[in-house]
Amino acid sequence: MANPMKLHILGCGDAFGSGGRNQSAYLVEATDRVFLLDCGATTLLAMKRAGIDPRRLDVVLLSHLHGDHFAGLPFLFIEYLYEKPRSKPLQVAGPPGTEERVRQLFELMYGSGSSAKSLPPTRFHVLHPEKTKVINGISVLSFRVPHQQKEVSLALKVGYHGREILFSGDSAWSELFVTHSCGADLFLCECSFYDREASNHMSYRDLRQNLARLKCKRIVLTHLGEEVLRRRKRINVTLAEDGMVIDI
Ligand SMILES: [Zn+2]
Ligand SMILES: [Zn+2]
Repeated sequence: MANPMKLHILGCGDAFGSGGRNQSAYLVEATDRVFLLDCGATTLLAMKRAGIDPRRLDVVLLSHLHGDHFAGLPFLFIEYLYEKPRSKPLQVAGPPGTEERVRQLFELMYGSGSSAKSLPPTRFHVLHPEKTKVINGISVLSFRVPHQQKEVSLALKVGYHGREILFSGDSAWSELFVTHSCGADLFLCECSFYDREASNHMSYRDLRQNLARLKCKRIVLTHLGEEVLRRRKRINVTLAEDGMVIDI
């Protein structure tokens, strides 16, 4: 039997902190690996609240480069520089342009102006759409989803020790979710709206029409906005909560 994994919901809110929820971050704890799906601005705070030592983190996988999904990295970096130095490099993977954007953000937030501020030991990887990459033993299949116009937004299908999680990132409905839900133990699916029309985010109405077609074992809705939270009693699918822990 495959080793169990735990998924800690560190942040299931949208960019606006709707319902007082933290921004996007999901921590996967396996027997010998700890990795994050997304790293919103509130991630370090949420890790400490959950009692997880930030030095245990091996890999950060980013779905896209919006602030509510990656702006927590500079806080992890200063944690590693000033409070809890790491012995191994942190591995950070995301869509093309990730390394440059992360370095720029860190410089803006904590640079001193003259010389570039050094990061703690970090290794960057690029996730190319429609490709699988293995990072520190974690297999990551990424595919492009409808969210940003020019820049690349990814959904991630992540496998480790025989368990698989499909994470939508931010996205409107895509038929690729039907394809890639096959074999997934959990589909962590964004649901920003209840029935609002949007070309870049999912509504429960769109998802509901397709629920029976998804082939995953379980689905949990996340990235929840005000409008969907107001109407949550009408929803028949599990909604994520900050602090929730799911056995995979
Ligand atoms: Zn978002
Ligand atoms: Zn976004």
